[in-house]
Amino acid sequence: MAKRDFYEVLGVDKGASEAEIKKAYRKLALKYHPDKNPDDKEAEEKFKEAAEAYEILSNKEKKAQYDRFGHAGMGGAAGGGFGGGMSMDDIFSQFGDIFGGGGFGGFGGFGGGGQRGRRVNRGSNIRVKVKMTLKDIVNGVEKKIKVNKYVKCNSCSGSGAEGSSGFSTCDTCSGSGHVNRVTNTFLGQMQTTTTCPKCGGEGKTITNKCNSCHGDGIVKADETIELKIPAGVEDGMQLSVGGKGNMGPRNGIAGDLIVLIEEEEHAELKRDGNNILYDLYISFADAILGTEVAVPTVNGKAKIKIEPGTQGGKVLRLRNKGIPDINGYRTGDQLVNVNVWTPQNLSKEEKEAIEKLRDSKNFKPNPTANDKGFFERMKDYFR
Ligand SMILES: [Zn+2]
Ligand SMILES: [Zn+2]
Repeated sequence: MAKRDFYEVLGVDKGASEAEIKKAYRKLALKYHPDKNPDDKEAEEKFKEAAEAYEILSNKEKKAQYDRFGHAGMGGAAGGGFGGGMSMDDIFSQFGDIFGGGGFGGFGGFGGGGQRGRRVNRGSNIRVKVKMTLKDIVNGVEKKIKVNKYVKCNSCSGSGAEGSSGFSTCDTCSGSGHVNRVTNTFLGQMQTTTTCPKCGGEGKTITNKCNSCHGDGIVKADETIELKIPAGVEDGMQLSVGGKGNMGPRNGIAGDLIVLIEEEEHAELKRDGNNILYDLYISFADAILGTEVAVPTVNGKAKIKIEPGTQGGKVLRLRNKGIPDINGYRTGDQLVNVNVWTPQNLSKEEKEAIEKLRDSKNFKPNPTANDKGFFERMKDYFR
């Protein structure tokens, strides 16, 4: 996705002063702060976007580079490793600058704002493929899958240390989890508070590692996960199950389980969007005289009536015997394409009987308005 212009993101014009840029960013950071917008992806994106814009426009060199070359100037080393975007940690550590020198003091309005310094380890996502039969897709299905993944270590309750004596207070931050730093900025000297680089904000370091997990706080184990897969899924679709991925190290948070749907082909039925297609063959005699036949559907057989005089290529519709729409729209139909089987190996007697009928007036093709041609039938099929 194309990046928006940084000035546009912050809502300032090109001639804006450093103070104006800072003020604009502060406003956006408060508005889209994750604590104020829990579980709001869009707010999170806006929050990140504003932070990225500020990161560049608040830095004289980067700003000059951006003014000359635009986003293209930001990709390489000159962008300060900026190409991959900013992590939340980067953003929060930047806040020392934005919300005043007193650590997170200016941020008091947010619950948990002060804990932002602690780096939370997020486990990686796990991807699994799940095979779905057409029947599973029509009905929805619950599946149990076994996943070998990182889970919290029981021996140390995820802390990574052997017992409570396995820790010692971090000597870099004296246990506070953050360090103060005095930096020279454009506006003069400023005291900023950042996460302690040694303990990652935990305030303590492990001196005696847990024997089971060697200090990681996580171990590999099999877990059986129950998946509820809704009706109407499609091949290639991905469903995300929050928190069922790998656990993050040392009491972190778990990643997601990403389920990739793989459709299995049905022996007789074919999926077409939310419709199901079936190719039916009836005999020449049945087409003339009419009959009733049982056709397979995903959930057992269904009877359909073949009217006397049915033409080959007629499409019969079994309403709502298709696939429920995943977004809750109309359920599809099963469409039965009627083929009339032309006999290929006839006995002498049979041939003679047909021979007698060949010139009968009633055996000559005589389409009426009721016998839809190919193009009309196709409209029917795909409507
Ligand atoms: Zn520390
Ligand atoms: Zn452990």
